[in-house]
Amino acid sequence: MTLLLRRQLFFLLQLLAVFAIPAAFFNLVGLGLFLGLLVFVIIHLQRLHHLHVWLKKPPGEPPPDHLSGIWEDIADTVYRLRRNEDSARTNLLGIIARARTSISALEEAVAMVDSHGALEWWNPAAERLLGFKPGDAGKPVLNLIRDPSFIRQYQHPTPEGLKLPSWVSPDRFLQFELTRFGHNDRLLIAYDITRLNQLEQIRTDFVANVSHELRTPLTVLSGYLETLSDNPDEMPPRWGRALKQMQQQAVRMTNLVNDLLLLSRLESDGHKSAPKTVFMAPLLEQLRTEAQAYDPDKEHRIVLQVESAANLVGTEADLRSAFSNLVTNAIKYTPPRGEIFIRWHEDGQNRYFSVRDSGIGIEARHIPRLTERFYRVDAARSSATGGTGLGLAIVKHVLLQHRAMLNIESTPGKGSTFSCVFPESTSES
Ligand code: ADP
Repeated sequence: MTLLLRRQLFFLLQLLAVFAIPAAFFNLVGLGLFLGLLVFVIIHLQRLHHLHVWLKKPPGEPPPDHLSGIWEDIADTVYRLRRNEDSARTNLLGIIARARTSISALEEAVAMVDSHGALEWWNPAAERLLGFKPGDAGKPVLNLIRDPSFIRQYQHPTPEGLKLPSWVSPDRFLQFELTRFGHNDRLLIAYDITRLNQLEQIRTDFVANVSHELRTPLTVLSGYLETLSDNPDEMPPRWGRALKQMQQQAVRMTNLVNDLLLLSRLESDGHKSAPKTVFMAPLLEQLRTEAQAYDPDKEHRIVLQVESAANLVGTEADLRSAFSNLVTNAIKYTPPRGEIFIRWHEDGQNRYFSVRDSGIGIEARHIPRLTERFYRVDAARSSATGGTGLGLAIVKHVLLQHRAMLNIESTPGKGSTFSCVFPESTSES
């Protein structure tokens, strides 16, 4: 029993004694005890009333002086808790205010969108870059930003985010990132990437122009080399080997230039031909025929497994080029008499084009970098197979254009599987 409770008990006994002892002289001990108890209850009710009145006052008000005993202790404890809570709230409000001030100072547009898709809060940069106005609070964000690619990104965010010209000032370019937080709320961040975009454009244009300019001299050189090799009698015999090597290198350079041009076209934002249905059955058959003709000396077993009747929607020439790159890689990096499986299948969510081989495989550390331009696991082997080092970069860009992904699984010495994963929205049943 606490000291306070003991004191209360002692006080009660005192009261009972004060009333019961005089009452005993009149033989009314019961009445005396009752009166003692009544006074005890009245005193406590009165203090409870004071406490109640005080609790209704603003939190900063100190407890009333006329409370004593256990009530004084309760009031002190409540007062302390209220003050702690008050300072915690003030601290929290300070942190929120500082966070808001710092977000407001950001150059990037930041906006909070609630779980129903309504705009909740945004910083001044969002007004500047996205055109949000003070009256937009509570409006659906998809009514304020109506661009179809933004709507797609909003519904199915991709890790790459989205690049769009600003609708507030069309000469500026914005990069959008959407992140989920809390209970399905979203944080929308938009960066001004105009300068970066310009530099990227300069680089892409430069590569495209150089490649384009190299095409004509290369065609002339290849033409003369062909004419010379068609007339071996007119050439000194020791030139034969040199001529053959020149021809091989000219083919390599032509492939390189063509791949660079294709990559530039895939990268340029202007490239967006209207998507069409790409019928998979004839495309897969053609891939198999080409695969069988690519390097027959290696006597590979090439198997085509068509397990889905679905078709894709997109640009046929680009998709064919991507698939063909994966198939020719499998042939290049699989030793003679190995196996290559070309498979088209689907599950409940996605459609898959995959190429599995029993080839040399790739160490795990190389896999994340394979789609970088000119990245090769073994430069000597890759050059020997006539690769340009751009094949998987092309595959990646074609898949990006089709909102698809490349998955690579490989075991060194056993083989690799390259799978293109197409979400259902980019295909037709
Ligand atoms: P390359 O023209 O050199 O083949 P790619 O971009 O097509 O360029 O491929 C990049 C690198 O990935 C290759 O150099 C090779 O090391 C590796 N690679 C690609 N496909 C396979 C495969 N099926 N098996 C083993 N290694 C592969």
